[in-house]
Amino acid sequence: MNVLIIYAHLEPKSFNGALKDLAVSELTSLGHQVKVSDLYAMNFKAVADQDDFDTIQDENFFKYQIEQGNAAKTNSFSDDIQVEQEKLRWADFVIFQFPLWWYSVPAILKGWFDRVFASGFVYGKDIGRYDKGGLKGRKAMLSTTTGSPEYAYTPYGMDGDIHEKILYHINHGMLYFAGLEPVEPFIAWTPARDEENRQRYLSEYRSRLHRLSEIPSIPYHPTSHYDNNHQLKVEYR
Ligand SMILES: Cc1cc2nc3c(=O)[nH]c(=O)nc-3n(C[C@H](O)[C@H](O)[C@H](O)COP(=O)(O)OP(=O)(O)OC[C@H]3O[C@@H](n4cnc5c(N)ncnc54)[C@H](O)[C@@H]3O)c2cc1C
Repeated sequence: MNVLIIYAHLEPKSFNGALKDLAVSELTSLGHQVKVSDLYAMNFKAVADQDDFDTIQDENFFKYQIEQGNAAKTNSFSDDIQVEQEKLRWADFVIFQFPLWWYSVPAILKGWFDRVFASGFVYGKDIGRYDKGGLKGRKAMLSTTTGSPEYAYTPYGMDGDIHEKILYHINHGMLYFAGLEPVEPFIAWTPARDEENRQRYLSEYRSRLHRLSEIPSIPYHPTSHYDNNHQLKVEYR
């Protein structure tokens, strides 16, 4: 498989760095092709703006999505965006490696989504979204670390259910929206706390990497299960 790792951590010696390094070495030794986008090392631009396009279609009123659609048709995204989009076309499986920040992804990764998951590339009138999104046929997995413990991220826990309340907006709102098929996330809880758990997480992650194609997908509904008002049809509730 062609595996793309989108990695967002400032410190190479961090636990996120260790998980990323482990993925590169294990997947490579298993015969996969691996590419890494190390966003901080690349100094990846996080802010979406006019510089993301070689030409601006409407100079009087700048609307980012319209300019994205135009750039997708005319191949006029800035070079850094085009390079990332090319990696996504190449990939069969995308791993996102990041620490959980404010219940979400660090800004540099959010900016990567804003700029790379462009209208006209991963979604749009001519493409669709969710199961019809532009990246369909590819799988994706979140691999994240937390500062709060696992029990805080349960349905009645202080932080809320990690799957339904915290990671849903990434798995459903970004990955699945773009056509990717999200699989169950890998979560290393509070890796900063103790060495014993860190070794366990590395070992669990290694096993997971060995069965990448068998990781269960998150069972989201296809668009055909919704009616014209975007409501889930009664028979699927
Ligand atoms: C802006 C911000 C917002 C945040 N928001 C949230 C939030 O909403 N929810 C939440 O839960 N947390 C939050 N946090 C906390 C954050 O999620 C954690 O600090 C982070 O996930 C810890 O991961 P790390 O890779 O940075 O760990 P590190 O602190 O870098 O690593 C932990 C330890 O692992 C060691 N290590 C590295 N490599 C190895 C190896 N190979 N083997 C064994 N040990 C190794 C390191 O030496 C280090 O001691 C936030 C933090 C910030 C800065």
